[in-house]
Amino acid sequence: MKNLLAQVYAPQNFRQQAHELVDILADYLQAAQNQDFSQAIPWQEPHNSLAYWQADFAEDLLANPNDLFRKIIEKSTHLHHPRYMGHQVSTTAPLASLTGMLTGLLNNGMAVYEMGLVSNPIERIVSDWLAQTLGYQTLGGGLLTSGGTLANLTALLAIRAGKSPNDVWSEGTSEKLAILVSEEAHYCIDRAARIMGWGAGGIIKIPTNDRFQMRTELLEQYYQTAQLAGYQVVAVVGSACSTSTGSYDDLGAIADFCEKHQLWFHADGAHGGAVAVSDKYKHLIKGIERADSIVVDFHKMMMIPALCTALLFKRPDDAFQTFHQKAQYLWDNPTSNDWFNSGKRTFECTKLMMAVKVYAMLRTYGEAVFSELIDTLHDLAGEFAQMVQNRPNFELAVVPQSNIVCFRYMADNQENTNELNAQIRRKLLEKGEFYIVQTTLRNELYLRVSLMNPMTSQADLEVLLNEIEQLGTQLQTK
Ligand SMILES: *Cc1c(COP(=O)(O)O)cnc(C)c1O
Repeated sequence: MKNLLAQVYAPQNFRQQAHELVDILADYLQAAQNQDFSQAIPWQEPHNSLAYWQADFAEDLLANPNDLFRKIIEKSTHLHHPRYMGHQVSTTAPLASLTGMLTGLLNNGMAVYEMGLVSNPIERIVSDWLAQTLGYQTLGGGLLTSGGTLANLTALLAIRAGKSPNDVWSEGTSEKLAILVSEEAHYCIDRAARIMGWGAGGIIKIPTNDRFQMRTELLEQYYQTAQLAGYQVVAVVGSACSTSTGSYDDLGAIADFCEKHQLWFHADGAHGGAVAVSDKYKHLIKGIERADSIVVDFHKMMMIPALCTALLFKRPDDAFQTFHQKAQYLWDNPTSNDWFNSGKRTFECTKLMMAVKVYAMLRTYGEAVFSELIDTLHDLAGEFAQMVQNRPNFELAVVPQSNIVCFRYMADNQENTNELNAQIRRKLLEKGEFYIVQTTLRNELYLRVSLMNPMTSQADLEVLLNEIEQLGTQLQTK
């Protein structure tokens, strides 16, 4: 072997680097959890960050790659910091990350059974476990894929394959198909409809009520209007929950409507489908078992590193109708519905062994670990909402149903409230001690937290509100 390649694959090098890296990562976890890092986000302007890494790239080769890894840790957003409460990405379980190191090295590509001897059966078990937890009676209709965006697109393609009067796969489509979704649905649903060529008319948005849930009593009216305009409505997508405010649509009402008109009911549970594991919170997704297809992200509420998403079909055969492609070199029989050849049902050909991370969690901690997380984060959001309501200068957008809370600080002059909250959020970002985000609801700007980290305490949240209050006062007296 050539010299460099010999170094690359030398087991003793790996052993030494990996031992050291695990120590570095354990130190990171400890520092983050104890808040020894003063910042949850070490904010840099993009051009500064680029300049830093360009300078790094120009340096001599590393004697030890761990020097690089230390820098990457230092400069990254620290999701394990209790004051990280930004976007809905999980505070990864260290065990799941270790599993990622294992599967990264093994690198079994999964598309065909022979390249996923372990990961294909494990994916089947994990998706069956989730399907059962969500209340599906027939198992075998699940698959894992890279993210909720791709999973929702895959579901919509299956809907089109199932509901279009044409054989779209062979003939293309000129039909005017459409879906009904809440105006608060994740943007990837809109994007998926447009990718499929349905245009703006193919995605019909139903207004939401004061809790940002789909006004299901309007479904009939929007359905009739669309049909009259020449669209064939094929599905309703329910959000469980919506991204901005974490509001759950009434899935039972959507299921009733879909049954009445023989439409496909797709439940986008990317964020909130995971509440199925919690006795306390599973009522939020009542009716999800009546959905024809469901998406759940493991990398949001189940502590798994991104990306790791389940797409479940109520009728297993539906999982196979999306991609009818022949790939002679991959499959002996392109039309058989074999669960163990993962690539028949996914966009991806080569695919990460992602189910193994979930499986390792289930085998080590049991499903109770997921319900503990759900309950902890949802309880905390309820407490935070109460804290916001107890402060006179603050306003809650809506009483939260999930672990997402939107709120704002009221300016002395109401007209300045949007601008003031944008400034507060910007100051918090630059300071980096807390990481929170913002969202716009009915043209009003709100601060938004997703409580993702079970180590976030009520005390952290009190400090956050104090900081916001302080910034709000300072910014107004300038
Ligand atoms: C996050 C989210 C998505 C997108 O999932 P990704 O895994 O980020 O691609 C879709 N729908 C909902 C409701 C979400 O919360």
